[in-house]
Amino acid sequence: MTVSRRDFMIASSSVLAATGVSRAAFAAGSGQPDVIVIGAGLSGLGTALALEEAGLRVLVLEGRERVGGRLFTLDDVPGNPEAGGNTVAPAYGRVIAAGKKHGVELYNIVARAFGHGPQELFIDGGHVPLADWPKHPRNPFPEALKALPPWAFADAMLKQHLPFKDLGRWFDPEFAQYDISVYDFLAAHGASDAAIQLAYDTNISYGTTAHDVSLLMQAGVAQWQIVNRGAGGPPFIGAFKGGNQRLPEAMARALKGDLQKGKRVVAIGARPDGAEVTCEDGTRLRAKAVVCSMPLATLRHVAIDPLPPAVQNAAIRTIRYVPITQVHIVPKKKYWESDGLNPNMWTDGIAGTVYAQRFGPDPDEVMSVTAWARGLDAQYLDLLGPEAAGRAVVAELERLRPAAKGALKVAKVRSWATDPFAAGVWSTFGPGEVKAFASEIAKPHGRLFFCGEHTALASRGMEGALESAERAAVEVQLALG
Ligand SMILES: Cc1cc2nc3c(=O)[nH]c(=O)nc-3n(C[C@H](O)[C@H](O)[C@H](O)COP(=O)(O)OP(=O)(O)OC[C@H]3O[C@@H](n4cnc5c(N)ncnc54)[C@H](O)[C@@H]3O)c2cc1C
Repeated sequence: MTVSRRDFMIASSSVLAATGVSRAAFAAGSGQPDVIVIGAGLSGLGTALALEEAGLRVLVLEGRERVGGRLFTLDDVPGNPEAGGNTVAPAYGRVIAAGKKHGVELYNIVARAFGHGPQELFIDGGHVPLADWPKHPRNPFPEALKALPPWAFADAMLKQHLPFKDLGRWFDPEFAQYDISVYDFLAAHGASDAAIQLAYDTNISYGTTAHDVSLLMQAGVAQWQIVNRGAGGPPFIGAFKGGNQRLPEAMARALKGDLQKGKRVVAIGARPDGAEVTCEDGTRLRAKAVVCSMPLATLRHVAIDPLPPAVQNAAIRTIRYVPITQVHIVPKKKYWESDGLNPNMWTDGIAGTVYAQRFGPDPDEVMSVTAWARGLDAQYLDLLGPEAAGRAVVAELERLRPAAKGALKVAKVRSWATDPFAAGVWSTFGPGEVKAFASEIAKPHGRLFFCGEHTALASRGMEGALESAERAAVEVQLALG
């Protein structure tokens, strides 16, 4: 039986490895799990725990040698910066509850992240004081919006001109006529190509340019921001103590059944009465149901038999994921004290946005800085390869801030697009794809079920991952009776 995602929202280990010996849950049973969950990120773990609570025996298979997926704390870089999911906002009810339940403390990082003044603007290789921006020759915005910095322009345009108010229903067929590109929308409301290129395509959050992102998807993002800002109370942006990866680690420890790492799934058989998975190492496992949390950009390399229905299969093959490549840098001196500028930067070059990481014992101490290249810039860095990418970003930062010369040591280059278990940071519906795919993407296929942030409708990011876990767990229970 299928639970409609919309109705749902509105209403509301080792199995005997090929050679191995089973642990707790399987010792008591036949040795075959009721459910196999693929992926030990938030959504897979959330599904597995919910199914165990319902009395089912669950095996989790994770391709990597760690749990957490797109929650990834760099424990080997000073200050433990996040390479993956960064912040928890007030409307993240499920994430906040999961932290409490599993004993991982959430703390408010507003002061650490935002308490040191606005980020600096760098255009064409030069620093532009924000006070000078409205009259700057490179400011391409219409007169009424010239005071907005580039990072605020597209958001303001969207909020001002979005053609429907009920943004929470962004996926509703009623709004299908707005499944156009963000580019077409911004251009229709008077934004020039130069404005769109600077304000949307540079340091892009969804897609690689405004041409390949659906306005409807952007409406869903806007809704999620509004919900989080409107949640009331004092300003709150949270992170988990010791790093966000501590949450999925704690969830994994709470599993009764087994979690096997290093088990890359390469094939899934979806039958009406059961399902099976095949791993790269040749292991074949059967269960009454399989829940797949893999990002679609990785799932498209897995053989599914029989193929899902045509539209769902097309979604698996085409939904794009945003490329982001980070260069984590340890500063050997406080160059921001020498040049008097905030270490946080918004640039229109390959360094992208730069954030000071203040997550050590002293909330004011910058332990490292992270340059985030997004979209086409990330793809360019990926083509260079990690070492050359690190050198290129350091050279760019030294050019922009001469005080940093000789003071930047690359600690880690992290490409999400070239990571075979993620292939990007988050899913993006292109123009026409909300209409085509939103209602089909998570439909059960025989006894194969789907969770993952890409299947969430009401929330995004980490919260979306746990939202999807709730739905998938209900679907499986209904199917298994
Ligand atoms: C750089 C970055 C910044 C982010 N910032 C935020 C933020 O500030 N706030 C927020 O809410 N969200 C943020 N997110 C998004 C958030 O981290 C994700 O939405 C969420 O963690 C996704 O969880 P998931 O379970 O859906 O997917 P994943 O965490 O990707 O889990 C899927 C799992 O499947 C595994 N897998 C993949 N292929 C296979 C295979 N073939 N066989 C077996 N296992 C496989 C993967 O290794 C992974 O563990 C960010 C993400 C990134 C990358």
